[in-house]
Amino acid sequence: SKKNGKSRYTIFKPDMDSRAFERLQLATDLRRAIELQEFKLYYQPIVELENGTIVGLEALVRWEHPRIGLISPAKFIPLAEETGLILPIGEWVLETACRQAKYWHLRYPDRAPLTVSVNLSAKQFQQPQLEDKIAQILARIELAPQNLKLEITESMMMEQGDATIATLYKLKNLGIQLAIDDFGTGFSALSYLKRFPVDTLKIDRSFIKGLGYNREDTAIVHAVIAFAKALHLSVTAEGIETAEQLSQLQALRCDRGQGYYFSQPITADAVQLLIDRNCDP
Ligand code: C2E
Ligand code: CA
Ligand code: CA
Ligand code: CA
Repeated sequence: SKKNGKSRYTIFKPDMDSRAFERLQLATDLRRAIELQEFKLYYQPIVELENGTIVGLEALVRWEHPRIGLISPAKFIPLAEETGLILPIGEWVLETACRQAKYWHLRYPDRAPLTVSVNLSAKQFQQPQLEDKIAQILARIELAPQNLKLEITESMMMEQGDATIATLYKLKNLGIQLAIDDFGTGFSALSYLKRFPVDTLKIDRSFIKGLGYNREDTAIVHAVIAFAKALHLSVTAEGIETAEQLSQLQALRCDRGQGYYFSQPITADAVQLLIDRNCDP
């Protein structure tokens, strides 16, 4: 801010300067955030639309910054990508989510298994020997691979061209599940997609928003569900916020869904309360 008399001596535009400084400061803080244990994983339930059973949980990272407070991943993941810090952060996310999945399996041995979904960043997806890292984590934690699902965005897959198929097969061969995230936004050629060894398509939230109101969005949701069925993939709708959206998706035989209508992303402890209630007859 301007202090009388002193401002004419400043060389930089104060606005630009403070913004650049803030970014630099945030990058410095990000570097130390893992060791200071400032990251938290929240989990958003993924629900079987036919019967309301919780079948999975998507891990979503948050940064509890000591001065700034809660910072959303939309803000710090891009910064982490640019600085390369996404690799250690991503590994922490994977390890923490797998540990949590293992804990839930021990806690609910009689319940249908819960899949934990983890988002992969572009740098992680391009990392050589990613499959070895994941295999090590699964072995160390003794988590059955089918209980882990990796979410990779459609645009990330398209950027990589033919290398994508090789990477996907290496991951798939571990026995884990794969989902294409934000489906519908990445302009993929449908003929190309059938070569991807994936289990699930996640319809991007932006299309669910217009479901029943916007003609194009509605047509896209219909088409993606039909397409998934034709390729024998499971299909999950993101961002379900209303009962109307839910009933339309049920009528279309969409397999699964997640969104504020069911639950926001919540802490692991809150998930437990929800599952206990969900299990009640
Ligand atoms: P995403 O993977 O598409 O995750 C879904 C986002 O939509 C989450 O935002 C979630 O809180 C939000 N959401 C869920 N249901 C609703 C709804 O009904 N309405 C609305 N308006 N929003 C809903 P969040 O947690 O802020 O994450 C944003 C993005 O950050 C994620 O998008 C993902 O791309 C990225 N991200 C989050 N955690 C991680 C992580 O651990 N690793 C990586 N690489 N990326 C992550
Ligand atoms: Ca996701
Ligand atoms: Ca998504
Ligand atoms: Ca998204």
